[in-house]
Amino acid sequence: MPVKTTWNVEHACGHCAEHDLSAKRASERAGYARWLGTKDCTECWRASRDAQAGRERAGALAGRRAHELSETETWETRAAMPVLDGSDKAVEWGRRVRYQLLAAAYETLGLPDEQFAARIETPARHVTSASWWIDQRDAEPADVEELVDDAASTDVARANENPY
Ligand SMILES: [Zn+2]
Repeated sequence: MPVKTTWNVEHACGHCAEHDLSAKRASERAGYARWLGTKDCTECWRASRDAQAGRERAGALAGRRAHELSETETWETRAAMPVLDGSDKAVEWGRRVRYQLLAAAYETLGLPDEQFAARIETPARHVTSASWWIDQRDAEPADVEELVDDAASTDVARANENPY
């Protein structure tokens, strides 16, 4: 009787599956079938691979967020930026926008550090409304100076200050 080509394998995950081992040499089929039995079935293998990929994506995203946050914090400390006013969510978003806008302006304007500090960072320190920063998120880097200057000089962007 020829060695069978179709083997019913009980996999490590507990599922049974038939495997066509006709491509293997007759003398290797039993060993191969035993080896297959130490692995999960194809479906379970796929599912755990997808779950793993999902975990990696989530981990990468969390890592990027944490990296961004620590970059933002480092910059805020160095530039002596004040804490923003607003809800936790708005503050987190506003801080990110403030950092990105000022970093973009720094790149674009190419000013020496003292000039950048005087013309951009100083007025920017007066703007403590998270929502004001969020509103400027699509601003051109070249417009940042005018925007922060305008906000700082008119006080429109001081958050939650009831004048009455
Ligand atoms: Zn399975």
